Amino acid sequence: MTAPAAKPRYSVIVPVYNTGKALAELVSRLQNVFTKTVKASFEIILVDDGSTHDETREHLRSLAKQKGVMVITLTRNFGKPGAVLCGLQQARGDWMITIDDDLQQSPEDIPLLITQEGHDMVTATHARKKHSLMQRFTSRIKAWFDYVVLGYQVRLSPLKLIRRHVVDGMLAIKTNRPFIPALIRQVTNDIVAVPTAHHSSTEGRSRYSFARRWTQFSDLLVGNSSFLMQVFTRLGFLVAGLSFALALAVITRKLLGIPTQAGWSSLMVTILLLGGLNLAAVGITGQYFIRILDITSKKPAYVVRERLGAPPKG
Ligand code: UDP
Ligand code: MG
Repeated sequence: MTAPAAKPRYSVIVPVYNTGKALAELVSRLQNVFTKTVKASFEIILVDDGSTHDETREHLRSLAKQKGVMVITLTRNFGKPGAVLCGLQQARGDWMITIDDDLQQSPEDIPLLITQEGHDMVTATHARKKHSLMQRFTSRIKAWFDYVVLGYQVRLSPLKLIRRHVVDGMLAIKTNRPFIPALIRQVTNDIVAVPTAHHSSTEGRSRYSFARRWTQFSDLLVGNSSFLMQVFTRLGFLVAGLSFALALAVITRKLLGIPTQAGWSSLMVTILLLGGLNLAAVGITGQYFIRILDITSKKPAYVVRERLGAPPKG
């Protein structure tokens, strides 16, 4: 029986989905950074989020033969957050580093993040993203919500350095719809950003469909915050207040003997407005119930199919 390998200082987690040759380049650049610049022990965990391209699977198989590289294959495509969470769960390092598989963030920027190790979480941040117009637009909206809903003061990047105890806290939260920035914020607000450059994707286009982005966005809004509920509650009070003011105005006019027209239109507007708000509130409440149902039925955020390369955790 072989003894379990010593725990590394850094665990690099890479969600992988239908990637080409860039994977080998990413792994070798990561190895270079850790052996030549950081000079510390590390492991690389590639989590295959149900890639459908044979080429990706072949690349992963050959990379798994390298020392310190672990490949975890999920049974199907669970989405990036599930894949990242799986990697975090398997990682043994004191510090976790997350990075995308398409070299949009440079492995060579990792030492910059490491200079800020006194903090719980260090994120890279990109002044300008090498994305399409549409991606930049959705990314801006997401950044705004990260700020408003989660309270992030900095713009996030997939390249992050996270302390072990933060990850332990994140993993203790039971969710089958993980949203990594929300989980981080549940545990800490000791977060700093390091400006870095953003590069074009080696894959050419995003592997995130609009539908997937939308699902994740609604997971943030509904699954990870009471933001929508708060908005609708406030709106409800506002509308109630307005109708109260309207009633007062009508009564005052009556008392003063000012003739009031039988106000069909204002009546209809009020009824429709309240009806609409009611419907929206019922819909959102329903969404919360669905999430509760999901969690109580313990649907997993990911399922591991096989593990290659490094020894199991423990
Ligand atoms: N990804 C994933 N599952 C998916 C889609 C994407 O694990 O269903 C991973 C992908 O491998 C990459 C990261 O998420 O490491 C970001 O994906 P992509 O580069 O396509 O998105 P973008 O850069 O446009 O945000
Ligand atoms: Mg990308």
